[in-house]
Amino acid sequence: MQSAIELQKKIAGIDRKTYGAYKILMGDYQFNNFTLFIDHVQSDPFAPPSRMRVRVPQQLAGFPGRLYQTRPARVAVEDFLTRCFGAVACGYCGKKGTGKSGLITIDRCGQEILERTAMVVNDEFVEARFSVGLPARGRTITAGAAGDILLEYIPGIVRQALFYKSVDPNKLKTRVELAEDQTALRNMLHTMGLVAFVADGSVLPRESGGSELPLQGPGVVGFKSPPEYRVKVNLPHRGEITGMGIPRGITLIVGGGYHGKSTLLRAIERGVYNHVPGDGREFVITLPDAVKIRAEDGRSVAGVDISGFINNLPFGRDTVNFSTSNASGSTSQAANIIEALEIGAPLLLLDEDTSATNFMIRDARMQRLVAKEKEPITPFIDRARDLLDNFNTSTILVVGGSGDYFEVADQVILMENYSPRDVTARAKQISASNPSGRVKEVPGRLGGIRERIPLPESFRLESRDKVKARGMDDIQLGRRNIELQFVEQLVDPGQTAALALIIKYAAQKYINGKATLNQVVQAVLQDLEKEGLDIISAYKGRHPGDYALPRKYEIAAAINRLRGLKVQQA
Ligand code: ADP
Ligand code: MG
Repeated sequence: MQSAIELQKKIAGIDRKTYGAYKILMGDYQFNNFTLFIDHVQSDPFAPPSRMRVRVPQQLAGFPGRLYQTRPARVAVEDFLTRCFGAVACGYCGKKGTGKSGLITIDRCGQEILERTAMVVNDEFVEARFSVGLPARGRTITAGAAGDILLEYIPGIVRQALFYKSVDPNKLKTRVELAEDQTALRNMLHTMGLVAFVADGSVLPRESGGSELPLQGPGVVGFKSPPEYRVKVNLPHRGEITGMGIPRGITLIVGGGYHGKSTLLRAIERGVYNHVPGDGREFVITLPDAVKIRAEDGRSVAGVDISGFINNLPFGRDTVNFSTSNASGSTSQAANIIEALEIGAPLLLLDEDTSATNFMIRDARMQRLVAKEKEPITPFIDRARDLLDNFNTSTILVVGGSGDYFEVADQVILMENYSPRDVTARAKQISASNPSGRVKEVPGRLGGIRERIPLPESFRLESRDKVKARGMDDIQLGRRNIELQFVEQLVDPGQTAALALIIKYAAQKYINGKATLNQVVQAVLQDLEKEGLDIISAYKGRHPGDYALPRKYEIAAAINRLRGLKVQQA
């Protein structure tokens, strides 16, 4: 360990040298009340910025242990400090020369609160992992500017963001309690017989299609539960709140176009994650294992038994062991459902806007025109009940276009001017007095799920092969690709970055030609929860990179979308 004075001397010694001389800064430096770790130094001003960490002993940082005892609380504290660090750093950030010179950044957090590698809080220390663009003019080191950043700005940021006495204690306490309440409510749903909860007063619509911030202004209609579904829940900190409890079963969300159906479903989709105060969806809480299902034509599918939904494809194509590099709308949607069941999803979320019409419904007239023998698809309407009875899997569906669904629904919720109303009785009455004339199409029971064993050969990597994520939607695994733009519950680029390394980790440790995909995913997630997300990084004991924890469904989704994936059915 060197001293801050030594760092100062080193910086002075490289003034006006070429950029490569920055490398001598790598190392650990003891400051007054924290340690600075310069783990990686960028090779030029345009390269990805240098990776550093600061560690404050918890004795000095002074965060009370009770604030980070439970997992949701710790994640909330880490999330809060990441945001504080980011906001404070932003104030010190300025253009200090060429390329990324002068940048001081930490991983960006969105509306969801996710476990991240950017911040660690435990009994021993508080550690922030961040990036710095070491300054230069052209490729010439500007030592003065480097000294400002490393010896003044960073200590300033640490002082303002990483000590309990410098953050707003009430704000932090609120965050922690909110996260604990959200998690508690999510854990209560099952015993209450509910699959989702939408609190009265929630604000569901977002600012725009490209923003997750809440819509504001006089036009916003706050959520108000229909009396039939209003339940009270008692939360550990907030106490009693009320809202709409969606019971297990088959729930239909109907209503005219533009009346808020998809907005409600999207909020429920995101309810698998905790949200920050002010989001509007703080108490829109869904079973943690709910999975959004959509059509995804073009995706690759490996060895999935979709025969419960698709049979008799042209030219006798196998659907018991269905593989394709280019699925259709309906086959992709069928595969998405079976893959979710394979990992154990107790709730599926479907929206007509993103479903294949022929997968959702075949009406009486079409049944008459096209014989069942010529139609490979058993539509979802004829399987929703099987999913509930055989797999204990509930469904929430947005369907504005087909009243045939009234027959199979347990609950029908009508959205009208953004307000929900219970219309179950009326829908049942209509379906009784106006028979649809359609016949149920069930070639057989929807059988058990055939589990699949991913084969190691599909994950083999040469040493020069790159494993990395590009943005939120793409992963490159050597020469193979994974496209994730339609995996809608993936909400943060950090999750995608983590997925790339998680797959590599899984391939090295668990994908052995014997373990099923489900076992692989469970084992990996258990490691991540026990040992922390750092374990996926190649840089042990250093800045690991910016990663956020995905759910097991997104881990499975990424593996399932690996182009060229080979599996064997168990
Ligand atoms: P649908 O799926 O029924 O066609 P959407 O959910 O897409 O309708 O909503 C249509 C529009 O209404 C969107 O622009 C959405 O942001 C807005 N919106 C949805 N819910 C509300 C609300 N509670 N208050 C104000 N605007 C809303
Ligand atoms: Mg819609």
